[in-house]
Amino acid sequence: MSTQENGLYNEALKPLQTAATILDLEPEITEVLSNAERVLIVSIPIRMDNGKIKVFTGYRVQHNTARGPAKGGLRYNPTVHIDEVKSLALWMSIKNAVAGLPYGGSKGGIPCNPKEMSKGELERLTRGYAASISRWIGPDEDIPAPDVGTNAQIMGWFADEYFKIMGRYLSGVVTSKPLSIGGSKGREEATGRGAFFITQESARVFGMKLKGARVSIQGFGNVAQPLALNLYEAGCKIVAVSDSTGGAYNKEGMHPKRLAEFKARTGGVKGFPKSAPITSSDTLTVDCDVLAPAALENQITEKNADNVKAKLIVEAANGPVTPEADKILLERGVKIAPDVLANAGGVTVSYFEWVQNRMGYYWSDEEVDEKLKHTMINAFKEVYQTAKQCQIDTAFICKPGQLDMRTAAYVTAVRKIVDAMRALGRI
Ligand code: NAD
Repeated sequence: MSTQENGLYNEALKPLQTAATILDLEPEITEVLSNAERVLIVSIPIRMDNGKIKVFTGYRVQHNTARGPAKGGLRYNPTVHIDEVKSLALWMSIKNAVAGLPYGGSKGGIPCNPKEMSKGELERLTRGYAASISRWIGPDEDIPAPDVGTNAQIMGWFADEYFKIMGRYLSGVVTSKPLSIGGSKGREEATGRGAFFITQESARVFGMKLKGARVSIQGFGNVAQPLALNLYEAGCKIVAVSDSTGGAYNKEGMHPKRLAEFKARTGGVKGFPKSAPITSSDTLTVDCDVLAPAALENQITEKNADNVKAKLIVEAANGPVTPEADKILLERGVKIAPDVLANAGGVTVSYFEWVQNRMGYYWSDEEVDEKLKHTMINAFKEVYQTAKQCQIDTAFICKPGQLDMRTAAYVTAVRKIVDAMRALGRI
């Protein structure tokens, strides 16, 4: 897998550069923020089930640690690229600062196809990766968590390998662990639940009613399913959903629990009773009030942004809207709850897990949910206030009547990171 740049990271830097302009940062500070503190590239030789050795490449990028230990997920996917991991690490620094968590940002990845690997191969790969990067990982250094293609079991193997190397049980080394080894209640549904709180707050400030609102969701996995259920329970109509098998549309609305049961039984949402078949890209442009891309990056581009009919986009996935599409949507007055705010619920409950691990004392579902709600609403209010301020201060970015919540989130986060770097005397 190439370790050459592929341009993705340059795209990821654009909102950071806009925020730096608004904050009037010295160019050398922007330069510091544009470069990850540490980029680890390791090779992991694994004995495959066929007896042959295969060498995998593993990445871990620590973008910034001024506000606390680095924190970010681990991705197993054939398309993992160093530029993607660098972008995701930068987004984690921003997201953690937006949510007010005492963390910097990081991300890891291994180009591989977990669907084609046996359980044994995945375990050996995870243990090999954990051993290779262990000296730069830890509850006070860098704390991985699952991302696309990884799960609680992979976190369990990672933690066990780390415990063996350190000779100690340090459960806060990873988050989203199984409950039996120190996982937190509420973690599984946290990202979708957090995205719901952000949808509620957005609807409130933008004068939309959630009751009766038509919702389209791209993706129907860990994030999308609890989001769909929360929106349904708030009175929304889930008119369209999709996953990697295709999509389903019903203008009268579909029940998220029945959709989840159907997907569990048949492998996908395509063919859901009484629905019309649609493609996954149709979910982005169907007639609806709220659109929640909750699957992949770069889904709304300059090619389809003009066809988006939703009044509000809640970015449950990371990076679903390209910078070009962002501009078109803003011009059209479409409101966007950006990913670094909308999907911060997952890392927020990961933080709660880490806190509980360090205390050795565990909270109930209700306590976790109350704290998540509080954190998400506070983060939203802070970003919204900044957006209103930017609207006044930076007419070149936001035309009157428009609120650029993404730029505001970056301004909020960069201000906090720079404050921490100054307090530490790093700049
Ligand atoms: P997941 O693997 O559980 O679900 C992904 C869903 O997307 C699946 O339903 C899959 O079928 C669907 N999908 C894949 N290809 C598709 C396509 N071409 N069209 C439509 N659907 C497609 O993953 P997840 O954990 O729900 O993550 C989804 C997004 O949310 C990712 O961008 C991830 O980085 C982001 N995210 C996840 C968390 C978390 O806690 N899980 C936290 C923050 C951000």
